[in-house]
Parts: sequence; structure tokens; C-alpha cells
Amino acid sequence: MTKHIFVTGGVTSSLGKGIFAASLAKLLQARGYTVTIQKFDPYINVDPGTLNPYEHGECYVTEDGAETDLDLGHYERFLNTPTSQANNVTTGLIYQTVITNEREGEYLGKTVQVVPHITDEIQRRMLLLSDEGQYDVIITELGGTVGDIESLPYIEAVRQLKWELGKDNCMVIHLTLLPYLNAAKELKTKPTQHSVKELLSNGVQPDMLVCRTEKQLTEDVRKKLALFCNVDMDSVIQAIDADSIYQVPLNMQQENLDSTVLHKLNLPVDDEPNLTSWQSFLTKLRNPAKEITIGLIGKYVELQDAYKSIDEAFIHAAVSNDCKVNVETIHSETLTPGNVGKVLGHLDGVLVAPGFGPRGTDGKIEAIRYIRENHVPFFGICFGMQCAVIEYGRNVLGYQDASSAEIDADTNNPVISLMEEQKDLEKMGGTMRLGAYRCVLKKATLVHNAYQQDEILERHRHRYEFNNAYLDDFEASGMIASGINPDNDLVEIIELNNHPWFVGVQYHPELKSTVDNPHPLFVNFIAASIAHQESGTSTTASKGNVVSYS
Ligand code: GLN
Repeated sequence: MTKHIFVTGGVTSSLGKGIFAASLAKLLQARGYTVTIQKFDPYINVDPGTLNPYEHGECYVTEDGAETDLDLGHYERFLNTPTSQANNVTTGLIYQTVITNEREGEYLGKTVQVVPHITDEIQRRMLLLSDEGQYDVIITELGGTVGDIESLPYIEAVRQLKWELGKDNCMVIHLTLLPYLNAAKELKTKPTQHSVKELLSNGVQPDMLVCRTEKQLTEDVRKKLALFCNVDMDSVIQAIDADSIYQVPLNMQQENLDSTVLHKLNLPVDDEPNLTSWQSFLTKLRNPAKEITIGLIGKYVELQDAYKSIDEAFIHAAVSNDCKVNVETIHSETLTPGNVGKVLGHLDGVLVAPGFGPRGTDGKIEAIRYIRENHVPFFGICFGMQCAVIEYGRNVLGYQDASSAEIDADTNNPVISLMEEQKDLEKMGGTMRLGAYRCVLKKATLVHNAYQQDEILERHRHRYEFNNAYLDDFEASGMIASGINPDNDLVEIIELNNHPWFVGVQYHPELKSTVDNPHPLFVNFIAASIAHQESGTSTTASKGNVVSYS
């Protein structure tokens, strides 16, 4: 029988429930259990696809084309197993199902209510993945914080499931914060006590507490928490701030999180988890032999979570290259023909990020012109690839008004145009070209060399596409389509054949990079950037907003 673990959050948001859930899953997986993680989000959007990154960070896309919360990216990066549509559920989706059922007459004669109809639908979806019988353990992360009005139906669903499944098959872990008061030189437990009381008032007794803290928990603090929150002493787990998210599973193991969970769920605790490759990844991360600086040009750079998967893909690729990668974020709106050399001159490689709408496009195009002319390694992702096509169309092929129909609907040269199947769409939610599509790689190209494969499967999220009417023109002058979708001839990859490393991809390779499987294009791009640095062409001095990954 599948065991269920629910993870709730207390005191404040942003405690890292996703990283915690992924870390627990990693430890159980490393002990040979099959695990998946799902996230339930209490907002009314049917999925996060219609949210601006400023609202909710990056939108993560699964293999089956679901637009999901960025925590699913952490789950995949830690576990190296794909998630799906079923792994992310929102209040909007729950209500949509119940209202559709109501219109179809499923509840004829009954008043449709939050309890039982909404809570039943939540429970049905919480158990959905266990129906397949392929998982020993399912971890369900509840978005939001206990005490929020919108979280109540979820807590009620968990209360009922706990009762139905029984204590050997279901447990609740409450992730909470112990603030440190400098004046008192003390970690304070009161907010946690209140948060557990709130849970209790909704009928849920947490089985474990995981306490985010800047300082070590003393025995006294552990005892106090155990006593006042009704949990066993070994069920108070310290989650001290870590220098890397990839350190968290190891910290959790030191606290015996995995063995305590297994005992509670009445599952065998045999050997220790096998974390050898995870540990060696961390050792390499901390002891790089080289160091480079990559520019990340985007328009949401002020928001830490907007390019989460790209940031993480850089870390995975850095480790495989034995290199520390400093990522310097550059706001595309600040780039002009006058300053581009000064801002980008010292960089060893540049990635132009995905994006939507015209804001910041000029800066991206200007940056790409500089990068192309100065032979700096370039990696364009989705909108970044489209900007590279526009730049080439304008500055090399001489189409002054080359553009994307997304930016300039009236251009005479839409080198990027709306995909045929998008033309008659009226609804915005879930209607982009989403999820995994096939792509055939041309031999003897940068990308074929990187992947060492003839065909790949990569994830998409876009409405616009390279306009094939221009393909011959581009290829004749050196920008070639090195990856094509074999089913509909869409250009998925462009690259330059007279540049050390200039690759633009219409898909999102960052979504498939994991600790165990760094993405070959990121690995190759970092290698090309190291080579660029070693060739001595980049200038020194970096003054931007630098985030170091080591
Ligand atoms: N806005 C572009 C499109 O819809 C690119 C999307 C993206 O970068 N994800 O095609």
C-alpha cells in the first residue's frame, strides 16, 4: 500500500517546503523506495501558466505539457524522475472539476458545498497517483501557510485522509520557522507553538516538526517544542540554513529524518541510504578548479526565482566542468548600443533568457549583435533564440524591419511568426505549444556534438516560431537550422557555423537538467565559455550583480 506524507508550512511562507519535500524524497529514494512528490496550491488560477513570473517565479513545464509550480522543478532535479500534470493541483482546478460535475448533473438534487464536495475532490486528487500502485511513498506539499483562509479545505482533506488511511500509512510533517532574537540571544518557539495550535484547531496533529533556523537547536529547545506541540523528541528536526540546496538532504539525514519517517510509516529501515554520487557532486561543487562568469540577460532578473531552472542547470553543468560559474544578471532594458561592450566585455559567455512581449527586446538584440560579432559563446533559450534570429535578419541579412509578429504585428519581415495552430485560438490558459516534442539533429553541428544523439525530446512553451519562408536565406549566409521537428518541420535549433559557440533553442533545455543528468547543452556551453576565457579574449573586471555558485 502506498504511504502518504503531507508537508504543511507554518509561521511564514518561503521556508523552502519544496526543497524539504525533495530532500526527504531523495533520502527515501536513496534507500530504494519509489517516491513521487505532488504540490497542491491554494490559488484560483487553474494553473500557474497565466501568472507573470513576478507573481510566482518561473513556470515549470512537465514532459506531458503541464504548466506547473517551480517546486516541481526541484522535485525532478533531486529525484531525476519526471513529474506530470497530476503532480500539481490548484484550487482553480479543483473548483473547475466540481463545477463541471455539477453542470453535468453528477450531484443532482444535492447542495454542492466546500465540505464534502471540494474536500472530496481534493482527496481524490491527493490519492490519484497511488492508484497506479507504482509508488511506495507519495509526498504531498501543501502550498501556502497554515492559518490562511484558502488553505482550510486542504487541511480538512488531510484530516479526513489521516483518519481514513490510518497512522501507519499517513503522516503530517509541519515545516516551521524558529526566529532567532539577537537581543535575547535566543531561538523563539512561540510562533511554532501557535502554528501547531492552529493546525490542531483544524483537527490535525502534526507527527513531526521540521524547524528552519539560523542557529543550532539546543536540547532544551527541542524538548520545549516536543512537549508543547505533542510530538516525540526524535520528531523535532532541525533544518539549519545551508550553503547549497543540494546540501539539505545530507543535513536532513544527519537529523535521522528518513529513518524516523520510515519507523512512523511502519516501513523497513534496512541499510543506510546510498548517497555516494550525491556527495561527490557536492564535493565537486565546493572544489572547482576553474572559474568563469556568465551573463544572464533577461527582463525579470530582479526576481530571484524567475529563472530558477536556468540557475540550477548552470550549477549542474558547472560541476561537470569542474568549474565555478558566476552568473551575472543583466537587465535587458538597461542595454544600449552605447554601453553593450562595456557591460558585456568581461563575460566568458552569455545566455539570453526566455520571455514574452516587447519590453526589453531591443537590449537583448543589441547584446546578441555584440556577442555574435565578438565571438563570445552565446546560448539563446526560446525568446532568446527568437531574438538571435531577428538580430541576424536585421544586421546580417539586411532586413531592417525583421521582427517577431509578437513584437511588431505589422512588420514586412516576420522572421518569427505565430504558429499556424495558434492563429485561431481565443483562450490564453494552457494553449501554448507545451511539453515534449521530438527534434532531429543535423550531423556535424554544435548541438549534435553536444548531445551525441540523432534525435532528442525537449520541452516547449511558446506560441511563435522560426518562419520557414526565410530558412534558405538564413542557411545560405551561415545561420543554420541544426534541429528540426520531424513531424511538422518547425525549426527547433539555430546555430552559426562561423562562430565558436552560438546556439539558440526554441525549447527549454533547462527543464531537463538534473543533478544526476546535467543537460548536455549547458555542459557544452560552459565548456565553450571556459575555452573563450582561456583564449584570453574576454576583458577582466566584473561589476554587475554577481551570484556565485559554489
Ligand atoms: N514569447 C515567445 C513565444 O511565445 C517566447 C516564449 C518563451 O520564451 N518561453 O513564442
